[in-house]
Amino acid sequence: MIASVLSEDPKRKSCAAFFLRRNGENMVNERKCAVVGCGNVGAACAYTLACSGLFSELVLIDANGMKAEGEAMDISDGLPFLSPMRVAAGSYRDIAECGCVVVAAGANQKQGETRLELLKKNVRIIEDVCRSVSEYNDEAVLLIVTNPVDVLTTVAQRASGYPKSRVLGSGTVLDTARMKQLLGERLGLDPRNVHSIIIGEHGDSEVPVWSSSNISGVDLAGFCGLDRCADPQLLDGIFTAVRDSAYRIIERKGATYYAIAQSVLRILRAIVRDEDSILPVSTFPEGHYGIDEIALGVPAIVGRGGVKKVLDIPLSAEEREQLLESAARLSEALDGLKD
Ligand code: NAD
Repeated sequence: MIASVLSEDPKRKSCAAFFLRRNGENMVNERKCAVVGCGNVGAACAYTLACSGLFSELVLIDANGMKAEGEAMDISDGLPFLSPMRVAAGSYRDIAECGCVVVAAGANQKQGETRLELLKKNVRIIEDVCRSVSEYNDEAVLLIVTNPVDVLTTVAQRASGYPKSRVLGSGTVLDTARMKQLLGERLGLDPRNVHSIIIGEHGDSEVPVWSSSNISGVDLAGFCGLDRCADPQLLDGIFTAVRDSAYRIIERKGATYYAIAQSVLRILRAIVRDEDSILPVSTFPEGHYGIDEIALGVPAIVGRGGVKKVLDIPLSAEEREQLLESAARLSEALDGLKD
């Protein structure tokens, strides 16, 4: 009796159909998301996504199957306090219907291992993961989180064969959040009133776009003149703290994962809810800023289906030069993979 009542509920059926997206042959469910790699970052992403109520189903996949199972069990135990959903460990077969796939799989640096050796190891992991994903699903949006995220977003797009719009990296979304938080803290303001962006590599060569930064419409110089920030070194100090934030956290607790999980939620929310939000995700400028062929953090319109458009924002001559230097560094890293 109960079973027949559930299966015939037309409201449930039309509601489920609303989230199905047909682009080609496949149907994907935009309310179903997979997280591949359930270490610190993947597990924090899964937990944050579960708490958000954005998805009705989460699939967790890890090379260490027990880890994925354990995380799914732990998160599931809290579901009675959250919106109803299903969280389970799975395999690539379970990815077939997913509208979004988050990739946080990676290797740790071993003692004596160089950065390049580690990069090559992570390239192999991302290639394997992306080929496995595309074997079962060629309609999802792939969100790459594993570092170095810009190089690996480029690698993921090539390995998956997905269009560039549907492969994006978390880029400088986290760095931008750190910038807003620190600037807000320093000025004693709500960080949501700080409008500023970091672009380029998620890493040492990233570029703060001070030229258009503002506090609710008042440019920084004007705001500082009017109000509290008299220290001329303020901005340099803040940027250094933002750029080196991950190092300082890793020194203290071995990894960073909560804020990147919030960044992943922010990006996925823009995609699932078709928000057309402007976010500095790692994506592929096609000639914008004079950059081609590689992914890096640039402001882009993010909505249903991934990146809809890369934006050309005004940059000062110095910022433009720094962005090109950042792109050159990433191209060099990609070229280094050829040997
Ligand atoms: P971790 O070592 O805790 O987790 C990595 C997980 O990947 C492990 O559970 C491992 O079993 C799994 N894995 C390895 N190979 C796999 C494969 N082939 N298939 C499936 N799973 C596989 O590391 P972490 O702290 O979770 O960090 C993960 C990545 O996220 C790192 O590259 C880190 O640098 C990166 N990260 C990125 C950002 C960002 O802003 N983009 C922020 C923080 C961390």
